[in-house]
Amino acid sequence: METGDIMATNMETGEAQQRRSLLGLDRAALDSALAELGLPKFRGSQLWRWVWRHGITDFSDMTDLGKDARSLLATQFHVDRPAVSRRQNSIDGTIKWLIRLEDNQEAEMVYIPDEDRGTLCISSQIGCTLTCSFCHTGTQRLVRNLTIAEITGQILLAMDELGDWPAGKIDRRLTNIVLMGMGEPLYNYDNVRDAMKIIMSGEGIGLSKRRITLSTSGIVPEIEKTGADLGVNLAISLHAVHDALRDELVPINRKYNLESLIQAVRDYPILSNARRVTWEYVMIKGVNDSEADARALVKLISGIPSKINLIPFNPWPGTDYVCSDDAQIDKFAKIVMRAGYASPVRTPRGRDILAACGQLKSDSVRLRASQQAALDAKAAAAETADAHLST
Ligand code: SAH
Ligand code: SF4
Repeated sequence: METGDIMATNMETGEAQQRRSLLGLDRAALDSALAELGLPKFRGSQLWRWVWRHGITDFSDMTDLGKDARSLLATQFHVDRPAVSRRQNSIDGTIKWLIRLEDNQEAEMVYIPDEDRGTLCISSQIGCTLTCSFCHTGTQRLVRNLTIAEITGQILLAMDELGDWPAGKIDRRLTNIVLMGMGEPLYNYDNVRDAMKIIMSGEGIGLSKRRITLSTSGIVPEIEKTGADLGVNLAISLHAVHDALRDELVPINRKYNLESLIQAVRDYPILSNARRVTWEYVMIKGVNDSEADARALVKLISGIPSKINLIPFNPWPGTDYVCSDDAQIDKFAKIVMRAGYASPVRTPRGRDILAACGQLKSDSVRLRASQQAALDAKAAAAETADAHLST
């Protein structure tokens, strides 16, 4: 049973029944769910297209399915999207949604329109177990992983809101997806992988792996798996070029240091001049923004097909860090440009609605202390398993 399931009442028997979300099922899982109901396989193809190609939410609109099949499906399944708690529009066209999940937890997603593309930034967890010192999300302890249906549901919700159905239409507004919202996607690897496979499926939304970018703070063993399973674009939250400083800014570095991270990126299978890795580097005044840092950065990644994204530090309430001065960012950028990397500074978007990088943090209610302790124990167990894997 998925967390995304809801209760429904069976009209005939009066018994309470669980309706399953279809948004967490891949093609094979859908086929077997239909087989259990005695429905033939071709119904799976039809249903898949209604859900993933046409974005239909009401089974009675799935006209070629036959009346009996439609009512049977409606008693067993739903295709509900996350609810919208709040939608904010920035003056620069950025849209931020605070979404509410079935257990009333909240997460955020952001749409960023550009001249040549429209990018949806989605969340993979509520909060984050990692505690990068400059990141707002990192101050919110992990509440939980998002389910497959909650990850795919964000994309469907955005397509509803942007008027993007049927999928693949010429003037679609959503063209790219970045896993750069709340959470560390590689600590929710299985759900992220399955959700991306559904979104990439050719008979549905059919989004190309070239239009999906996964950003990670550097969970080395999962970087390799991502390359093998998905082949999506990779972004690395680098932020420091020496282990001592990176240990402080991105504490997962104590477990997977720079050497192992750089090696994992070198080994990432899809990298080429056409598909480069993106190095994200937040510019924090007096911390990581010296010219020596810039020179060390280009040296560290030399030989790897790369883009560098210098992100002006976005302040949030309670942080002691300050964004580097423009003049310093300029000096840093010049060194990077001289080394052959074009236009490296990322213009912050949606700053007026706290939608910029690292500013996402929902007001999700914290779990009771006992629930949080159980969750922490689970995370620690996963960490241990992970440590075994990486040795
Ligand atoms: N957990 C993943 C995905 C989140 S992506 C990761 O860390 O890569 C969010 C990006 O915004 C990351 O590169 C993160 O390092 C960056 N970021 C976090 N806080 C920021 C801030 N206050 N200002 C600018 N960028 C920030
Ligand atoms: Fe988590 Fe990424 Fe923020 Fe670090 S930067 S705390 S990994 S969301």
